Amino acid sequence: MYKHINDMKYISTRGDGRKLSASQAILKGLADDGGLFMPEKLPVFDFELKDLVGRDYKNTAYRIMRLYFTDYSEDELKECIDKAYDGKFDTESIIDIKHACGAFYIELFHGATIAFKDMALSILPHLMKVAAKKNNIHGRIVILTATSGDTGKAAMSGFADVEGTRIIVFYPKGGVSSIQELQMTTQKGANVEVFAVHGNFDDAQASVKKIFSDHAFKKLLADNDIMLSSANSINIGRLVPQIVYYVHAYIKLLEAGDINDGEKVNICVPTGNFGNILAAYFAKLMGLPVNKLICASNENKVLFDFFKTGIYDKNRNFTLTISPSMDILISSNFERLIYLSCGCSGAKTSKLMYELYSSGHYSADKSMMKFMSDFTGGFASEYENLENIKRVYKESGYIIDPHTSVASSVYEKYKNESHDDTKTLIAATASPYKFAKSVMGAIADINGMDDWEVIEMLNKTSGVAIPKAVIDIKDAPVIHKLECDIELMGDMVKKVLGLKV
Ligand SMILES: *Cc1c(COP(=O)(O)O)cnc(C)c1O
Repeated sequence: MYKHINDMKYISTRGDGRKLSASQAILKGLADDGGLFMPEKLPVFDFELKDLVGRDYKNTAYRIMRLYFTDYSEDELKECIDKAYDGKFDTESIIDIKHACGAFYIELFHGATIAFKDMALSILPHLMKVAAKKNNIHGRIVILTATSGDTGKAAMSGFADVEGTRIIVFYPKGGVSSIQELQMTTQKGANVEVFAVHGNFDDAQASVKKIFSDHAFKKLLADNDIMLSSANSINIGRLVPQIVYYVHAYIKLLEAGDINDGEKVNICVPTGNFGNILAAYFAKLMGLPVNKLICASNENKVLFDFFKTGIYDKNRNFTLTISPSMDILISSNFERLIYLSCGCSGAKTSKLMYELYSSGHYSADKSMMKFMSDFTGGFASEYENLENIKRVYKESGYIIDPHTSVASSVYEKYKNESHDDTKTLIAATASPYKFAKSVMGAIADINGMDDWEVIEMLNKTSGVAIPKAVIDIKDAPVIHKLECDIELMGDMVKKVLGLKV
């Protein structure tokens, strides 16, 4: 069918023209000009989907990743995959698919920290370690990460005690669920550090990006044999592993006879930084039969407004919702779609991103919007979200978390308005146990109950076993209590690394 590209190079969305290997792009995270790495050409499947039926997740992972990470040998890549998708997952199939209320929920939360971030962050540290060896990097690799709640824990868990690495995480104080916070503040590992910052996720993310583009700082680090990298979803080493589960879910549906070979499906994704849905789009571009990509937002509905009007405008009130991992006004990975939609013009992308940075908004032209017509946007209010958790439970007995419910609620509206009866996959991105209070509060009276009582109640109501990730933090000591102001994040990084402030 298609020829495998032997030497895939990665280039910046902002057009600085440099070409990096996959391992170099994974190590760097962000391009030097502030852009995101894109494969120079998008690969397409060099296999038939039906030929993957009956094979396991690791096999699909290898078939996809080898098309992108071409400077990894077969052995290296297979070893990374073996180490990532193992007993840390509480289901042998790595992902599960549940059928409820006329949709297929792909459960992506069976990893160590019970959110979909584990799907990519289980493998990223291994990809990075191999990359460091390949590129003769002997110093320390420091991972800086801003988190809206789930990346932080998944990254800390993935990198904890990985030799030669140090990981520093910043999360918005008061902007994550109590379980999310406890998961992070109890994280063990001599190389992990976590700060609660006084600001929201966008502030923290912007500040991390600033640290990345601070050349004086980078030089100071280089002088001390330290290399900065990012575990955020902008890293190509996160994006590519996320393509795998959409392909694998399709294969599992084929296997179960729920769809026919070649049948198109919709994919509906609860969206924040636009990484997860972008991976679904990459799967489509590679050859997965996908009809619509439904981009579901919560009340921070920048993307919904964009798909409606063509104007991206972050100048608005930031709302804290019960789906905190989607409380984002600047969806970083959206830059990659912008880049593709303007004919891969680095100059154009760069101009729009500069407008976003300087004025808080930009607009896409007609041809760009036409290019994006595979996407449709929707959003769910807090009220709709809670009502939907209740609806899905009442109708099917299935209990979903507030992020998954945003997608489920948006899908329900989409179906009723569009009369599109294409079979639809909904990305179920977190275990309801991570947001037990919001979830049970939607279904029952939990007045006066604490987190752990609500967790017991969720267990009884859903019949789903309490995940190890939750049991583990129940009596775990809080190790991390540091807080800092947004402006001081750079100084904190220096301090942690033992450099002069
Ligand atoms: C991170 C996250 C999202 C948003 O995913 P993006 O890739 O940032 O769009 C949705 N739900 C949960 C539970 C998450 O942790």
